[in-house]
Amino acid sequence: MRWEQQKLDDDGAALLSLRGMIRTVTTPDFEGVSFHEIACRTALNKVPVQSSMPFRWTINTTRGCLHRCVYCFARKTHEYLDLDAGRDFDTQIIVKTNVVQVLRAELAKPSWSREHVALGTNSDPYMRAEGRYRLMPGIITALAESGTPFSILTKGPLLRRDLPLLKEAAQQVSVSVAVSLAMVTPELQQAVEPGTPDPRARLGLIGAIADAGLDCQVLAMPILPRLTDSQEHLDALHGALAEAGARDVTTGALHLRPGAREWFLAWLAAHRPHLVGPYRRLYRGGSYAHSDYRRSLARRAALARERHGFGDGADPMWRGRSTPEPVVSEVGPQPALF
Ligand code: SF4
Repeated sequence: MRWEQQKLDDDGAALLSLRGMIRTVTTPDFEGVSFHEIACRTALNKVPVQSSMPFRWTINTTRGCLHRCVYCFARKTHEYLDLDAGRDFDTQIIVKTNVVQVLRAELAKPSWSREHVALGTNSDPYMRAEGRYRLMPGIITALAESGTPFSILTKGPLLRRDLPLLKEAAQQVSVSVAVSLAMVTPELQQAVEPGTPDPRARLGLIGAIADAGLDCQVLAMPILPRLTDSQEHLDALHGALAEAGARDVTTGALHLRPGAREWFLAWLAAHRPHLVGPYRRLYRGGSYAHSDYRRSLARRAALARERHGFGDGADPMWRGRSTPEPVVSEVGPQPALF
């Protein structure tokens, strides 16, 4: 690692300069993992204007993620640190230990406009390491006290720890909590997301969020072509989410951006080699699956939504916006792409 060559990262935070670097920690509780503790200069990261994301600000407490999802599109960001997007992303975790302090200073500036802030975009704020570093309670409190609305996306049941705090924050500002869960088959889920808790733990988290009186959205992404995209899979997923108490569900097909693409295709070659050719054809145009495929998936997902009581079949992510995919409630034929 060439620490001395690091400058500003893509989030705008100064990482890994010798000045920012505090120490590297390893512990038997996290075998094979190194935590590089740094003093960041920026906590709030501005999303590029050209981004289609429905928020302009994010906070990431770490770089790299112990959840190790093979499809993770944040992998590429590790290359800015002179680390690789594969194993290093999974095991070389940069922790912004002073993020709460820096955030408080940023929120206190007269120029801060109290726009929505999203957490959980490039790493999971409730990965297991949060139990050690306890950064989230300070962030939640700081955002709420400053009148800043925020959302959290996670796969980590550790969020249960902060539910009382989130309930309190929701009295002060708009708080949105979403759980990421796209497959309920434990064997496949553990192969694709080896560092995450199994689906039952996340279904339990959804129930706990609902029991706390907070709406729990579910991001059922990515849906994996030929692995989790059948009507049967989508029905099983939506049925389990409805039973757990999810407020609403957003589905979406796998994206294969550079960084994630290489890592995911290597996983596919090792675990489902017969699908490598079909995936290459489906993603021949770039990061997104062919539009015919996405339309077909949207139809099946809309049917599953309706069957399991999630409204009129309109995916919540696209309500009130121009929809890239048709929202209909009948299942059309599978496109002949595979
Ligand atoms: S939990 Fe999110 S950030 Fe972490 S590896 Fe999985 S997709 Fe990436």
